[in-house]
Amino acid sequence: MSMSFAFEPQPRRATVAVDVGGVRVGGGAPVVVQSMTNTDTADVDATVAQVAALHRAGSELVRITVDRDESAAAVPRIRERLERLGLDVPLIGDFHYIGHKLLADHPACAEALAKYRINPGNVGFKEKKDRQFGAIIERAIQYDKPVRIGVNWGSLDQELLTRLMNDNQEKGFPLTAQQVMRETIVQSALISAELAEEIGLPRNRIILSAKVSNVQDLIPTYAMLSVRTDHALHLGLTEAGMGSKGIVASSASLGILMQQGIGDTIRISLTPEPGGDRTREVQVAQELLQVMGFRQFIPVVAACPGCGRTTSTVFQELAQKIQDDIRRNMPVWREKYPGVEGLKVAVMGCIVNGPGESKHADIGISLPGTGELPAAPVYIDGKKALTIRGTNIAGDFETLVGEYIEK
Ligand code: SF4
Repeated sequence: MSMSFAFEPQPRRATVAVDVGGVRVGGGAPVVVQSMTNTDTADVDATVAQVAALHRAGSELVRITVDRDESAAAVPRIRERLERLGLDVPLIGDFHYIGHKLLADHPACAEALAKYRINPGNVGFKEKKDRQFGAIIERAIQYDKPVRIGVNWGSLDQELLTRLMNDNQEKGFPLTAQQVMRETIVQSALISAELAEEIGLPRNRIILSAKVSNVQDLIPTYAMLSVRTDHALHLGLTEAGMGSKGIVASSASLGILMQQGIGDTIRISLTPEPGGDRTREVQVAQELLQVMGFRQFIPVVAACPGCGRTTSTVFQELAQKIQDDIRRNMPVWREKYPGVEGLKVAVMGCIVNGPGESKHADIGISLPGTGELPAAPVYIDGKKALTIRGTNIAGDFETLVGEYIEK
C-alpha cells in the first residue's frame, strides 16, 4: 500500500481578489487578519475605542454589529471619529434579519461601511428571503461595496437543509446526517453567491465563509467549498470557545486549511473572559500566521520550556520581558526599522540546547542553568559574540537586543 502526504504548504488556491476599503482579500494577497467588536455599536465612544485597539493590535479589518436603527445611525459617526484619530481601518457591518431595512433607512451607514456581511440563513423566509437578500445586494451595488456571504451552521437555511435531507432519504441515505449538514452549508453559500451575481454584483465583490464550531466539520466543509468556487474565502471556527480551548481549536483547523492553500482572511473567534482583552484574538491570528511562516508581524522570541536544570526563574522572566519590550516598541520599530518583524531572539535556560538554538537566532543567550558558572554566552548572527557575567545578565542582554535592533 502506498501513501502520500503533502507536508509542504500547498500553493494558495486561486481566488478572485476583493478590495475591502483598500485592503485586498484573495487573489494571492497575504492572508488578512480581521476581528470583531463586542461593544454596543450605538455606544460610539466604546466602539471607537475598541475598533482603535483592535486595529492598533494588527486587525486589518474590523467588523461591527449593525442590529438596529441606533447602531446604524452610529456607524458614520464612528467612521468620522476613527478618521480624526488617523485610523483608516475598513469597517464591516454585520447584518442579520433586518439588514435590508437598515441599509435602506440609513444611507450614511451604507456609505461609511467598507463591506456588508449577510447571513443567508436569516435574511427572511420563503418568498421574503430572496427579496430581502436581493435588497442588500442592490445596496452593495448602489454603494459599490463588497459583501461577505457568511453561512453559519447555527443559523443554517432550514428550507435548504430540509430539501437536502429529503433528497438524501429518497436516494436511500448515501450521505450521513453530518455530510448533509456540510453540503447544506456549502450549497447555501454557493446558491447565495450565484443569486448575488445574477442581481448584478460583480464576482470581485463577493467573499464567502462557511463557519461551524467543530474542527472535524470545519475542515471538510471549507475543503469542499474551496474546490467548488474561486470566490475569496474568509476562514473562522465559529464559537471556538474560551481560553486555550478556543485558541487550540481555531489554530488546529485554520492551520490545516491554510497549509492546504485555503483561506484569504481569518478571524479567530475567542470568547473573552469577563473584562478580558478583546485584542487577544488579533494576537492569536497574527501568531498563527507567523508560526506557519505565512506572514511576519513581530520578532519571535524562542525560549526553551525549562526543566530540572533551571531552578531559578531568571530565564523565563527574561524571555517574558524581551517579549513585552518587543510588543511595546513595535509600533515605533515598525516605522523606524523596516524588516524588524523578521527578527528572531532566543532565550535559553542552559548549555544543553542553549548554544545551538541561539546560533539559529539573530541574537540569542544561553543562561546558566543549575550548577553552571554564572556566565551567559551571547550569540549574534550565528556566532558567539561575547559572554555576559555578573549579577545583571538579564538587563545586559535586554540592552544588547535593543542595540542589535537599532543597528
Ligand atoms: Fe532544560 Fe537546558 Fe533544555 Fe532549557 S535548554 S529545557 S534548561 S536542558
